Amino acid sequence: MKKVAVLGSTGSIGMQTLEVVRMNQDMTITALAAGSNIERLEEQIREFHPKMVCVFDEKGAKELRVRTADCSVRIVSGMDGLIECAVLAETEMVVAAVVGMIGIRPTIAAIQAGKDIALANKETLVTAGHIIMPLVKQCKVRLLPVDSEHSAIFQALNGERAQDLSRIWLTASGGPFRGRKREELKEVRAKDALKHPNWAMGRKITIDSATMVNKGLEVMEATWLFHVEAERIQVVVQPQSIVHSMVEYTDGSVIAQLGTPDMKLPIQYALYYPQRRYLPGRRLDFLTLGSITFEKPDMDTFCGLALAYEAIRTGGSMPTVYNAANERAVALFLEGRIGFLTITELIEEAMRAHRPVRDPDIDEILNIERDTYDFIEEKCRYRKEQD
Ligand code: NDP
Ligand code: MG
Repeated sequence: MKKVAVLGSTGSIGMQTLEVVRMNQDMTITALAAGSNIERLEEQIREFHPKMVCVFDEKGAKELRVRTADCSVRIVSGMDGLIECAVLAETEMVVAAVVGMIGIRPTIAAIQAGKDIALANKETLVTAGHIIMPLVKQCKVRLLPVDSEHSAIFQALNGERAQDLSRIWLTASGGPFRGRKREELKEVRAKDALKHPNWAMGRKITIDSATMVNKGLEVMEATWLFHVEAERIQVVVQPQSIVHSMVEYTDGSVIAQLGTPDMKLPIQYALYYPQRRYLPGRRLDFLTLGSITFEKPDMDTFCGLALAYEAIRTGGSMPTVYNAANERAVALFLEGRIGFLTITELIEEAMRAHRPVRDPDIDEILNIERDTYDFIEEKCRYRKEQD
């Protein structure tokens, strides 16, 4: 029985992870963590019997303690609690599925405690890849990608030599606004942006998909995971989300991973790697599939992708600014306080105002995150006054 902790268990990836665990019946859940959704946590406690659960919100933790007084579970809270859940002695693998930079400290703590990591939380690698990758090597743990594109690349690299890789083709669905121009995006609201054509995901990543900032974050994630420079990572739009990414080798051969859009596949692959398990669900039927198409990404309209390449070229703390500015701007967009196009405008302004720091340590990363949040809030206030 593999012993697994799920951080972010109430979210889209967390729930699908538990579904995979439920289907296979041969894993034990040791710890769970979420932000504040105690109703869902209570259900999960009663079904999976974890030893420890973190509710980031202290009040929520108190309430959950009362609700689960009849269960033998320890409820903790805050960042200390999240880290406790990440390092629990019996855990073998930690599924990092919280959303945003909040995942940095627990993921690092889990690696240091010798846990294998199934990583969905891309923001952690984007901002602290230079700390995490050497640590993974030093602590001799496995870091397995959950993001579908990175899982595809990982699968396409199986058994190949790193020096034979010439290029990565990172696929993108193009999101709900594919084919539109900037003019047409001025008035879009959160409810329009939250309608992803192929994937049902958490709110933040769904907005990131609509701006294509998600693809920018994925390019950054891929540079760290596969030790490939951004110049050798080409984003290509694949609207049906069937080809999950491809690897091109020096002889011109291209290996792709295909499948129906179902996150349970990369989640299960990470949980059981290198085994493949039966996964119920629709199969690709090439006789009826019709066409799989490809398009060049429109980096003028979706300038968040161009800004990501710029942030990677600058390096150091710039990806942190890109990511933190996006996290704050997306939250403001979801609150209806800024327009859709303002998200990437604010990212660009934050990047222009930042003096990059080389190899930032964790404290510097978190300070820059805070400063960037403040910068975005200020800019947002200023813009409002100008209106
Ligand atoms: P969701 O918003 O659906 O879930 C986020 C999870 O994080 C929830 O369990 C939430 O708890 C928890 N959380 C939020 N804040 C805190 C906190 N302060 N402390 C502890 N837990 C917290 O996000 P997704 O599942 O969509 O995404 C998770 C990560 O996976 C993201 O980094 C995303 O980019 C990545 N990813 C997601 C994919 C998808 O298909 N959804 C695909 C590829 C990558 P609560 O419910 O209580 O708020
Ligand atoms: Mg993805």
